[in-house]
Amino acid sequence: MTATILVIEDEPAIGETVRYALESEGFVVLLVRTGGEGLEALERERVALAVLDIGLPDMNGLELFRRIRANDSVPVLFLTARGSEVDRIVGLELGADDYMVKPFSPRELSARVKAILRRTGGAAGGHEPPVAKGLPFVIDRERHRVLYFGVPLVLTRLEFRVLEQLVARPGHVFSRDMLMEHGWDDPAASMDRTVDSHIKSIRARLREIAPEVEAIITHRGIGYSLREDW
Ligand code: CA
Repeated sequence: MTATILVIEDEPAIGETVRYALESEGFVVLLVRTGGEGLEALERERVALAVLDIGLPDMNGLELFRRIRANDSVPVLFLTARGSEVDRIVGLELGADDYMVKPFSPRELSARVKAILRRTGGAAGGHEPPVAKGLPFVIDRERHRVLYFGVPLVLTRLEFRVLEQLVARPGHVFSRDMLMEHGWDDPAASMDRTVDSHIKSIRARLREIAPEVEAIITHRGIGYSLREDW
């Protein structure tokens, strides 16, 4: 399986360095220079991971990240020119998978990319059906359905999006805000209570199939995660 990595970086020297480092590791690299081109590439291609520069000519990388997350759970590694931006990446709980501060070692970048793909099960890489490795879930985005222990789950569109996010990153604690931002077209129109009610409903569906398994864990006052040890 050859994973495709999307690199969104406007500085040619850095972009080419990253491309070379990742291609040397056997990845297919799509290199684009603007946020707009990046969004187009994500629509068009099945991308396993996106490397995202924060300083882009047409939009701020953080804004771009929000737009990506509105309908895609692709893992993201940020590139930033300033250490001061790290606070924002981390502090905003954006749900980025990792970041590197320029200048960075291309070899280190490849290692981080591989680590993220291992952690996320290389989700969406290549053209194979998106199977969450080692988990009893199969997320079929094209048909918009989820199999749990091989049994199809009947889910609403929003429930699907919430569960898809949780399954993409087992053990990662998602705040209600994060689940809303990722899952709702208009986050402002929803409230925390709504997330809780969707989780409740997803849990009920999961329990119908495996009553003894607690698949979704509540982190009081924080949010939810998918159970890590299956
Ligand atoms: Ca830049």
